Amino acid sequence: MKITAVHAFPVWVGIRNQLLVKIETDEGVFGWGESGLSGREKAVVGAIEHYREFLIGKDAFKIGAIWQEMYRSQYFEGGRVLQAAISAIDIALYDIKGKALGVPVHELLGGKQRDRIPTFATTHAAPGPEMIEQARQLVAAGWTAMRLSPSGHENPQTYEPREHIGESAKWCVKAREELGDAVVLGIDYHHRLSVAEAASFCQKMPSGTLDFLEEPIRDETPEAYESLRTLTDIPFAIGEEFASKWQFLPYIERGIHQFNRIDVCNVGGLTESMKVAGWSEAHYVDMMPHNPLGPICTAATVHFAAAVANFSWLETRASPAETHLGFDNSEFFPVQPRLERAHYPVSDAPGLGVEVNEALVRQQSFKFWEAPHLKRRDGSVTNW
Ligand SMILES: [Mg+2]
Repeated sequence: MKITAVHAFPVWVGIRNQLLVKIETDEGVFGWGESGLSGREKAVVGAIEHYREFLIGKDAFKIGAIWQEMYRSQYFEGGRVLQAAISAIDIALYDIKGKALGVPVHELLGGKQRDRIPTFATTHAAPGPEMIEQARQLVAAGWTAMRLSPSGHENPQTYEPREHIGESAKWCVKAREELGDAVVLGIDYHHRLSVAEAASFCQKMPSGTLDFLEEPIRDETPEAYESLRTLTDIPFAIGEEFASKWQFLPYIERGIHQFNRIDVCNVGGLTESMKVAGWSEAHYVDMMPHNPLGPICTAATVHFAAAVANFSWLETRASPAETHLGFDNSEFFPVQPRLERAHYPVSDAPGLGVEVNEALVRQQSFKFWEAPHLKRRDGSVTNW
């Protein structure tokens, strides 16, 4: 079965751009993938155009070999742009292979190890009574794991860490008191803090308040995380920006983090995700995938989550606490994973189990979007 076409569709779907990739074959079987480098989709489209030049005519079943060729057959290997392109192509090839063999993608990954995929949800409200209310709403709707948003999250212009960490810590403690010990509680700091600021935040709470701390600091330097490790006992959830198994390497091997926030649409697709999962399994690190994109990302991640042993929760942004993100994309994706209370069922349809309205996708255009460019009060740049 030979690849005959590779199409990239960077399109605005409701609330964000999605970079969808369709691969066609000479036997009429086609597959869809998604790429996750949000905000820089046009760069990824360029990479996909380069790859298309040598993908046409290749055997679509040789997914592992195609991955190696895409990664290694260039002098300048790796990086987030190339890996986001490889991810979408790899996922689309799994979709093709599943459809061609009449099996769901999880069968290609070793078969399902769980019948449904538990998720964690995010409270969107800033720390305060509304946040506690949203957390209670999530518990009532079936969630046992959730992530809080820190104070200052809502301001799109200015972020001054020290103004917010005390307030965030206070409401984390309050949330733990109100929700009890059975609920898994974390917070996502979106790599906004320094090591010292992250330590101050953690030290303002009794041990056991939080079950995970997501991305307190940037991830370029594993040694910085090792330094923070000596200053707090909260498990770390990191890795959503990692663009290969090699970026996970120091974190896994040095025992720095406890939850892998792997993103199948950025790390290098299902091929690379399975390798990271196996490596993590040997170090008793659980997979806790990043999943903020569209239904193709969710479907690919559900198949991955079904097929690995070491799994905790899959991120979902479709909970009642984030109704501001709610928009009905059924017209674009008539068949897609749908939450059943706090779980995603595992599809047994051939391939990913997602149907795309290609005619509608082709009518959609791309919208330039920038992540907020946050400044400190002194005018210096800080992370969003
Ligand atoms: Mg995150």
